[in-house]
Amino acid sequence: THFGFETVRESEKEERVHKVFHNVASSYDVMNDAMSAGVHRLWKDAFIQRFAPPPGTKLIDVAGGTGDIAFRFLNYMNKEHGTSSRPLDIEIPSRIQMEGFSEVQSEEDPTTSPSQNAHVTVFDINQAMLDEGKKKAERLGFTEDLSSWVCGNAECLPMDDNQFDAYTIAFGIRNVTHIEKVLTEAYRVLKPGGRFMCLEFSEVPNPVLRKIYDEYSFQVIPVMGQVIAGDWHSYQYLVESIRQFPNQETFATMIRDAGFKFVRYENLTFGVAAIHSGIKL
Ligand code: SAM
Repeated sequence: THFGFETVRESEKEERVHKVFHNVASSYDVMNDAMSAGVHRLWKDAFIQRFAPPPGTKLIDVAGGTGDIAFRFLNYMNKEHGTSSRPLDIEIPSRIQMEGFSEVQSEEDPTTSPSQNAHVTVFDINQAMLDEGKKKAERLGFTEDLSSWVCGNAECLPMDDNQFDAYTIAFGIRNVTHIEKVLTEAYRVLKPGGRFMCLEFSEVPNPVLRKIYDEYSFQVIPVMGQVIAGDWHSYQYLVESIRQFPNQETFATMIRDAGFKFVRYENLTFGVAAIHSGIKL
């Protein structure tokens, strides 16, 4: 039956995506830099700038992988609000370094006040990606209370309703089987007033640029995948998944259909990537 056919294809996609990210987990960061000539870093920086999370933001970063968005978020919070700190960045007043005054710190120091504290839950279907991310968090010196790392499927989040101030998903939503389910779940776990932000590859509207971009991605990326990660097929899959993802307008409509208001998008690098955002009222 048609239904049966779809189900087989869907579970195949899930398995394939899982295998792809399992295969690429350790080389993921290197490949990202190689494929995009480092531009993905600029996109992620721009994404956090647009996001501009206010003090105390409780974020869920879905398809968070090795933590690129999470770390940028925590750095932003630290720099802009001084509310989430890396241990080396904290200036401990000499007063609380004195013996017997340690409790005072949590009451008076805004960097440790729970109401002010930023937190990010990094959520991903692939434990191998999360493990890389956790290692990186340690290397970067982020304390454990700033982030949680949770494994699961974005299509059914194991979280209660109205939990987060913001939901981000970067280069993740095109890999899921049911985009609508992911959007509905995003809406559900956000608090009223919460923000949805998505960074994803998109469509290059200019036909000339599009041709150049197509040539590059179909000819060059799988070769890079083979040379750097020893894995042609995973990277060929990544290129195909980019082409199959809905364009800017279609995706914006899907976000509206999930219930979000004030939906808008912004192209990055001629539309190679786009930032979509919306608000849950
Ligand atoms: N957000 C990170 C970044 O920008 O570097 C990682 C992006 S990576 C291209 C895509 C991630 O989506 C992978 O870590 C993969 O495991 C995850 N993923 C794929 N399908 C998922 C799903 N259904 N639920 C949660 N995560 C998923």
